[in-house]
Amino acid sequence: MPRAGGRTRGRWGPIIDAHTHPQLPQEAPIAGASHTPEEYVRTTSGLDIRFAAAFVMAPRGDLPRTRTLNDKVLALGRSTGGRFFPVCSVHPGDRAKALIELDRVAAAGARALKLHPNTQDFDVADPAVRTVVARATKRGLPVIFDGYSPFDANQPGKFVRLAMAVPDARLVVAHAHGPQFPALIVYEILARYPWWGRNVWIDLSATASLFAHGPFADQLAWTLRKVGTDRLLFASDFPLDAPAKAVQAVASLGFSRAELASILYDNAAQLFGLPRRGTARKGVAESPNPASDRRSIGTAPRTRRSASPIPFAKGG
Ligand SMILES: [Zn+2]
Repeated sequence: MPRAGGRTRGRWGPIIDAHTHPQLPQEAPIAGASHTPEEYVRTTSGLDIRFAAAFVMAPRGDLPRTRTLNDKVLALGRSTGGRFFPVCSVHPGDRAKALIELDRVAAAGARALKLHPNTQDFDVADPAVRTVVARATKRGLPVIFDGYSPFDANQPGKFVRLAMAVPDARLVVAHAHGPQFPALIVYEILARYPWWGRNVWIDLSATASLFAHGPFADQLAWTLRKVGTDRLLFASDFPLDAPAKAVQAVASLGFSRAELASILYDNAAQLFGLPRRGTARKGVAESPNPASDRRSIGTAPRTRRSASPIPFAKGG
């Protein structure tokens, strides 16, 4: 499905990147070099990325800072017509205040919630986490967890408990448990029970790149198939991994073309409520430039504000 912009662009078809950390205005880089939304566009120029999930991470006990971060990522979503779709954050330890902020960002256009047990320093089994997940579910938001902890060996089971405690919650386990990926086999076992809703998705960021082309690649691919290819999400973890490398890693795992299309686009579109592949863009009404809506994330819309090849407003 070649598209304008180069021979290799679109080699893999349309893509949704379910995990990025674009550097927001006045924020420090997380990995040394600058990694602004514009950098993301540059680095993905060979890919047909239609949408990318933009994450922020809420600190504990600092609601003004949490609100600032959430407002910045919501603004990025607006300034890019939803191409960077906002994934906001709260800290479960902030209890009632976290729920108030969650309600606010849900009303303001957040597409999902991000929680990070390592960075935010909480235990997945903490009842406060369940409360936040239940509230996000009530507000229609999937909850994306960083899903690899070198410090909590029981964490994979805690995610299962959480999914059972809030059965309507749509959970994303980012990084497929890293080197603990064989623990994902539990989802194949759970799927044998009629009460299990299969409401857990697996984001392949970092882990696919780590294990592709190595001695564990076949085991990873085998385990992921047991989870179900309809529950796998392509994700890059930009800037910690290069999106092009991440796509190649996933593509190297032996999935069929149809399965790969699901992993690269369809599963995320369904989960996050984004336009389906090959259909008219449903997000046109939200786009500042409907005429550009069928284009990929790095393609220049002709707006009256700018003839720049990058459709992202600075400081937005
Ligand atoms: Zn990340």
